[in-house]
Amino acid sequence: MSIISGALYVVATPIGNLGDMSQRAIEVLSGVALIAAEDTRHSGKLLQHFGIKTSTMALHDHNERAMSESIVMRLLGGEAVALVSDAGTPLISDPGYYLVAQVRAAGCRVVPVPGASALLAALSASGLPSDRFVFEGFLPAKTGARNARLEQLQEERRTLVFYEAPHRIVASIAAMAAVFGAERQAVIARELTKTFETIHGDTLAGLSAWLASDANQQRGEFVVMVGGAPLKDHGIDAEAERVLRLLLAEMSLKQAAALAAKITGVKKNLLYQFALDLSS
Ligand code: SAM
Repeated sequence: MSIISGALYVVATPIGNLGDMSQRAIEVLSGVALIAAEDTRHSGKLLQHFGIKTSTMALHDHNERAMSESIVMRLLGGEAVALVSDAGTPLISDPGYYLVAQVRAAGCRVVPVPGASALLAALSASGLPSDRFVFEGFLPAKTGARNARLEQLQEERRTLVFYEAPHRIVASIAAMAAVFGAERQAVIARELTKTFETIHGDTLAGLSAWLASDANQQRGEFVVMVGGAPLKDHGIDAEAERVLRLLLAEMSLKQAAALAAKITGVKKNLLYQFALDLSS
């Protein structure tokens, strides 16, 4: 394959299973002049495994600004550079945002080389609604800030996706149960693509009990997904809801509420509020 000169390639790497390394990722990493890696020793092992000899430089949260400048200079000089993180897709709870923004601002090309990401691997196997979702990354480490963030998400209707560390998984699930309610459905995806991969769904209370009953389930890497908040009870019967949903597919929210009110006899403002909640 030909490498585009002056381009930054954002290259996804496996999240635990080397079989998930793509052929294109290997070719790009072999063909660029330089690989910017979150941790050069960590990525060095991956590169060695695939026989990639390209030189590496460290790009992490603490030096990203300084390094971005020198990478932009190299790109403007016609070299191609790749960005990798320790695992998965760079920028997804990983460094690279500042670099990509600078490279684009300098008018250089940014080329994604897609592959593994714990976020999408977990969501795709969770059984929770995946048509709309919110990725929250890691919750704040401190209890007060974590609870405040969860409270902001209390009414969110879309599926919530979090990354979590092993030393916080028990406390986070307990906090979610306290804020979202013990009966809210959730799924824990642990050690994805690795030997002890476990994907377990239950209510938040059930997940707390499950974690407490087996210390092994508290080890490794986690994605936590929580079902969205249920619709408030508007006291609208199933037939009125059916009519409203049909009309919403054909016309504006206001028109649908007005017409549904005429058809069903249910108050227009009730249907309007319900339609608003349906579309939020
Ligand atoms: N950029 C990565 C990605 O695309 O998934 C994520 C990097 S973030 C620093 C690391 C977090 O991702 C872990 O703490 C965990 O929450 C999640 N994670 C990474 N690999 C995982 C795996 N194999 N199974 C479950 N979660 C994983």
